[in-house]
Amino acid sequence: MANYILQNDKDNCITVLNEKGIKDGTLVEGLDVKTSEKAKYGEKISIIDMAPNNPIIRYGEIIGYTKNKVKKGGVIRADNVFIKKSDNLNVNIPFTSNNTRYNHKERYFYGYKNSDGTIGTRNFLAVSTNVQCSEGFIKILQNRITKELLPKYPNVDGVVTVSHAYGCGVAINADNSDIPQRIIKNILTNPNFGNQVLLVSLGCEKLTPDMLGIESSENIIIQQKNNLDKSLKEGLRKAESKLKILNKRQRTKQHISKLRVGVQCGGSDALSGITANPVIGYVSDRLSEYGASVVFSEVTEIRDAAHIILSRIRSEDLRKKFVQEMRWYDEYLEKSSVDRSANPAPGNKAGGLLTIIDKAMGSVAKSGSAEIVDVLRPGEKIKKEGLTFAATPASDFVCGTCQLASGINLMLFSTGRGTTYNLEYFPVIKISTNTNLYKKWNDLIDFDTGCIAFGVEDVQSCGEQLLDLIISSASGEYTTKADKYKLYNSLSVFNPAPIT
Ligand code: CA
Repeated sequence: MANYILQNDKDNCITVLNEKGIKDGTLVEGLDVKTSEKAKYGEKISIIDMAPNNPIIRYGEIIGYTKNKVKKGGVIRADNVFIKKSDNLNVNIPFTSNNTRYNHKERYFYGYKNSDGTIGTRNFLAVSTNVQCSEGFIKILQNRITKELLPKYPNVDGVVTVSHAYGCGVAINADNSDIPQRIIKNILTNPNFGNQVLLVSLGCEKLTPDMLGIESSENIIIQQKNNLDKSLKEGLRKAESKLKILNKRQRTKQHISKLRVGVQCGGSDALSGITANPVIGYVSDRLSEYGASVVFSEVTEIRDAAHIILSRIRSEDLRKKFVQEMRWYDEYLEKSSVDRSANPAPGNKAGGLLTIIDKAMGSVAKSGSAEIVDVLRPGEKIKKEGLTFAATPASDFVCGTCQLASGINLMLFSTGRGTTYNLEYFPVIKISTNTNLYKKWNDLIDFDTGCIAFGVEDVQSCGEQLLDLIISSASGEYTTKADKYKLYNSLSVFNPAPIT
């Protein structure tokens, strides 16, 4: 028997959900279709006879066109599909967001209050560089602070480093240099660092501490000390005074509206848009309704759903800002003679995704259906309650670094193929789109949504469970599986400006 999903009544293809695939000649119940060849899990079967140049419709949207004909019951393969250029940036599209109202009780988590009103979900001492030259130094300093000082300050969750490949050898005033500079500056005021960042400079770099809003009391300049050992001693002394301040902080009861949640996906598959991303979208709607901030991003992966996003933005000015960001990115890609078809990745295609439009329709589901109240440039700070779009690259770590700069204190990350993505600055809750992955990667995936595809659970019940997990992760009660392993990747600061 064929397990399948037809996502929208307008669709002319179905997605196969049988884990072991289906045989040639299998009857697709309810659709008067018999498969004409065997099909793998996640592959799409045409439910009509498709001539060449026939639109392929999924989610009620055209996700591509056939190059050669596909018989009714045949598999639509990625190499038989092409996409056309389309302009979906019409700012006059009608406003259609439906802010669903839910009955709900007030909810709270336990977090660290900062003087600027933001709430940390972690209490970290951050040691940062303003130039890549001091990266090796801060790694030694982090080790020594952790071993020699941290045991005396039990309320501090750890010492993290903020390092990057920016600062010297860059055209500091070039077009677009504002992007990496803003990202680095804003990372330092993330709510999880409690305004107690220690910045380590070399002393001759172009990106100076004052450009990052850092005062001399929070700064060590290695070239101003006699030698490395003296610089390290000064680092330990300054770190200890910051640890003393951080150690006085306690988790206190905070309303759920203080959460700032970034959503992302990586290693997507054909189920991303059916299971995990709609669950994230449900949670995003719920959080927006509570007055929390939610940030979704990944320009290349939502570019083909830009018309859907525009229809959920109310003001004309904000619509124009969104279009400006899309055009900026189109030009950025064109400069290197590529377009959005450089995405999806081979792994996405192996997971059943046909085109970038197919991927985009699944990706945008993470944003739910709420009104989009703000649009941010890469690394800009979150300014509003509710759902914000931040125009960042889709690349996992580049996007994650931008969202860290925007000030998120928790992240939801969906994956179908599996990824070892993790950042140490906030809890990253990993969500699998299919149960196979969850079983296989039980030591790394925190939450499974695969059961939705088989009707065992629905999006709402999964979403409510995920909301519980968000609360306990934000409160420090649940430790993500990746955090247990201390599986941490480096930051990746987006720099579209020249390096000299
Ligand atoms: Ca991504």
